[in-house]
Amino acid sequence: LVRLRSRLSRSQSTLGKGLLTLLSRDRLDEDTWEEIEETLLTADVGVGATQELVDNLRTRVKVLGTRTPDELRGLLREELIKLIGPELDRTVHSVKTDGGPAVVLVVGVNGVGKTTTTGKLARVLVADGRKVVLGAADTFRAAAADQLQTWGERVGAHTVRGPEGGDPASVAFDAVKQGIADGVDTVLVDTAGRLHTKTGLMDELGKVKRVVEKHGPVDEVLLVLDATTGQNGLVQARVFAEVVDITGIVLTKLDGTAKGGIVISVQRELGVPVKLIGLGEGADDLAPFEPGAFVDALLG
Ligand code: GDP
Repeated sequence: LVRLRSRLSRSQSTLGKGLLTLLSRDRLDEDTWEEIEETLLTADVGVGATQELVDNLRTRVKVLGTRTPDELRGLLREELIKLIGPELDRTVHSVKTDGGPAVVLVVGVNGVGKTTTTGKLARVLVADGRKVVLGAADTFRAAAADQLQTWGERVGAHTVRGPEGGDPASVAFDAVKQGIADGVDTVLVDTAGRLHTKTGLMDELGKVKRVVEKHGPVDEVLLVLDATTGQNGLVQARVFAEVVDITGIVLTKLDGTAKGGIVISVQRELGVPVKLIGLGEGADDLAPFEPGAFVDALLG
């Protein structure tokens, strides 16, 4: 929690502290509620969620009458967690139960941290005693396969790659084939993310999924989004959700933004839970997303 706190300090100092300060004012007049609303919107909590939170807070604060800092913190904690959805299943389905490897596709626009996330996830799984094969299906970005292979070597996972500019679907297919042959637990496939041609991406990603499914169903499609891109990230998310069924979201670069509220808006937008969060560039900076711990870090 200490580490989470320090990594989320930018969101904490604006969103968490901002809300607590505003709510502890002697008089909670219309202007103050507007400021609370603005604080939430600025942190990318999103319009719908902001409205819901403000409504709930207003009702509960009224019932409370006088407010001690502890009471306020507790109330805000509860309402934020409720908004994030403590009941959502955030398990990354990375191990199949019926033998054969689980297949995880990692998708997202270039630069969001897709390859890094794939590498970090491999590291987490290997540390858990799992055997992992990596598929470097991002054949368009020249350095992506090298970058993934470096991660693979570092964590002890074999990387399947194809010729530069080659067919991503065929690399993905080969990676799963290799995973089956090697009897591994998980095949993580890093895909290409050129969004400038939406149709191209649709075709390509759809094809990757279809081709991989010749081996069996895909267990997890993780959409990686850069938390610092705000509304843009939500637009990207929508495009990807049209192409493939996203099963989980990875929000990266939460360490570099005050807009931690994106966790809430992106889940609402896609109806898919945030499963993992990226908290830095280091190998250990990928964490499971836990609403309670996240909110505690936000509230300082
Ligand atoms: P890709 O094009 O989506 O595969 O992106 P990369 O994996 O190459 O990452 C792009 C940049 O983002 C790299 O410099 C990463 O180190 C950085 N990055 C990835 N995840 C995080 C994160 O959680 N926090 C921070 N601060 N940087 C990250």
